[in-house]
Amino acid sequence: MILFTPNVGVEDAEAKIAYGLFHLLTRVVEDASKISLRPMRGYYFLDVNESRMDDFQQKIQKKFEEMCNDYLTREALVRLPGVQAKYATLYAQSFIDIGGFDLMELFKSATEDYYRDFRSPACPHIEKGAKAGGLILAISSHTGKPYGRDRIYQKSNIKLCSICMALALIGQKLMTLQIRTTFRGKEFKRAILTLVPRSSINGDDFNTLQMKMRDCMETTGRLQEVPALIIPIVVLSRYKDLAEVLTMRGIRYDLHISSLESKIGRGWTTRGTSILDISSIASFVCRVPAREDVLKAYDSLRKGGRGAEILETLTFMLISDDVSANRRHMSNFAKDFYCETGKYLYYETTEYLLTEVCHISKHIILNDSIADVARGLSYFASVRNFGYIDEIRNATTLIEFERSLASGLRELRTRYEAEEKVYLPSEGAIKEVISLAAENLEETKLSIAILALSWRPTAKLKEEVQK
Ligand SMILES: [Zn+2]
Repeated sequence: MILFTPNVGVEDAEAKIAYGLFHLLTRVVEDASKISLRPMRGYYFLDVNESRMDDFQQKIQKKFEEMCNDYLTREALVRLPGVQAKYATLYAQSFIDIGGFDLMELFKSATEDYYRDFRSPACPHIEKGAKAGGLILAISSHTGKPYGRDRIYQKSNIKLCSICMALALIGQKLMTLQIRTTFRGKEFKRAILTLVPRSSINGDDFNTLQMKMRDCMETTGRLQEVPALIIPIVVLSRYKDLAEVLTMRGIRYDLHISSLESKIGRGWTTRGTSILDISSIASFVCRVPAREDVLKAYDSLRKGGRGAEILETLTFMLISDDVSANRRHMSNFAKDFYCETGKYLYYETTEYLLTEVCHISKHIILNDSIADVARGLSYFASVRNFGYIDEIRNATTLIEFERSLASGLRELRTRYEAEEKVYLPSEGAIKEVISLAAENLEETKLSIAILALSWRPTAKLKEEVQK
């Protein structure tokens, strides 16, 4: 049996309807691995691979009514953005009286014509006789401004049937993260994070995801006021289990973020929406020290520092494919991180970013001579004298590179002779670094400059080596 979501033309609402419907199926089909959700262009395809379907229709109907009664009460609805108190009772009533239709009949046909006439209701079920409702803010932050639907001239709200509304609200309750980003004075802010699957998921994946979403809300349902773009990396770092689920089985997800705002006595309005590839952020966060680095930056943000900027740069790098921009951002990122938190980036964090984000070859990043020289230069970072490191990073020719490296090393030697605790790189390492730079200046200088700002626990001090 196959069911289709209605193709309403807005991404967050469509995903929520799909989740509501999928959840309903997982409650009726015993073996969750037999159902799957597949993203299509603008809508979803739900497949139930079950031959024994006795009373399926009745079971679905009954379960749906139960879910409406449990989740869509007046008390629950009135707390949602976009639901005015005076209409909450009305909505709740319409969900109680939702029976008397054939749910499978409504969802059994696809609405493939994406660019259909948008003056007609967004969901085709109204034409099939289902009761009409509106697309409220609780379902989509594109309510009232469905310009993303493109080339439309009618600006009134999109019409949804009450069944799609109910499914979307259930989907939202179970499968979105609603983060309160604190309130100041009379202003309230909130972000709604909706996962949008980009590849097929089955009922087991769905159940695991749902469980982790719930735990995540409990762990990290409130955040300091932060720009919407950095909410994903902070949330996943504070609750790593969700990041792990998001990287399972190679399934890819985008994340739709809506930031909403309300002033006391007024309703909620949308401040902005964005959609980004959450999979690359999740794989980064799954690396344990990387996640700790994110939390250090978040800590600086909470203390009024520049942590937000640092995390914005990091997020940009993780979701961008522009290698040359990433390489530029990377060196500023490492330096800003150090200045702001007073801590070196973990070596593993740097290694990951240099490999995955800056596309620098492993044989340069993992080269021991580069590590040796970088370790020596990290002295300058520790005394907040970034001149030599910047010069090395900005060298445009091999001669410039050698000259900046030599003056840095000269300074190190002076300090060493004055009995300061500095690490002197070996002659052999310096030679090898110069020959690497002759082969590939860009990658060598960048690796050295950035590794000088990273902690490498395996490297030893010269005194230890000599012993
Ligand atoms: Zn509908």
